[in-house]
Amino acid sequence: MKLLIVEDEQSLRETIEKYFTEEGSICEVCCDLKGALQKIAVYEYDCILLDIGLPDGDGFAILEYLKSSGKNECVLIISARNSLDDKIKGLNIGADDYITKPFHLAELKARLLAIFRRKTFGSNSLLNYKEISIDLSGRTVNVNDKEMTLTKKEYEMLLYFIANKGRVISKNAIAEHLWGDEMDMLDSFDFIYTHIKNLRKKLMELSGKDFFASIYGVGYKFI
Ligand code: CA
Repeated sequence: MKLLIVEDEQSLRETIEKYFTEEGSICEVCCDLKGALQKIAVYEYDCILLDIGLPDGDGFAILEYLKSSGKNECVLIISARNSLDDKIKGLNIGADDYITKPFHLAELKARLLAIFRRKTFGSNSLLNYKEISIDLSGRTVNVNDKEMTLTKKEYEMLLYFIANKGRVISKNAIAEHLWGDEMDMLDSFDFIYTHIKNLRKKLMELSGKDFFASIYGVGYKFI
């Protein structure tokens, strides 16, 4: 999952970033409204964790921006305010859920996964695609009823391809989705080939099929 964490409280921002990075997500962070709007205008995220009280304005402006530009990111509001008005306002202008500080990271994760799952794959926590069956809560993958062992990156990559099945995905989009800001430091896409090669091989071993179509000069299609 690719996350944008918008939170001005440094320790909380870092705690959330560390937690989700260890879970295998790509996290980008912002500490104010202006920076968040800039990122959202350029990049795509699966979910945005959004603090409402920011130093240069309130987080509702981000929800309004997402709505007016037709973007479909999941938004989970994180707020110190416990007022019902804020909660209703946030949900009315497009937030998917709302969590009040202080909270446990495990609860934040559960809520986030629930909205992401609902929005991307429907309400079921078992995702099936042809011979592939993924348990989104347990993060386990079975192919033809045999368990497949994947690295965190390969798992994220598989979910990303299934969510975009049948569409041509550019190498750039894959890099941005799975490596985020880190990819600016890389000068080639060779590392993507390696990850795709490994995932492709593991899938072929268990299914006997090649799920990846290479589109010359463009990227890949999951079929
Ligand atoms: Ca704040």
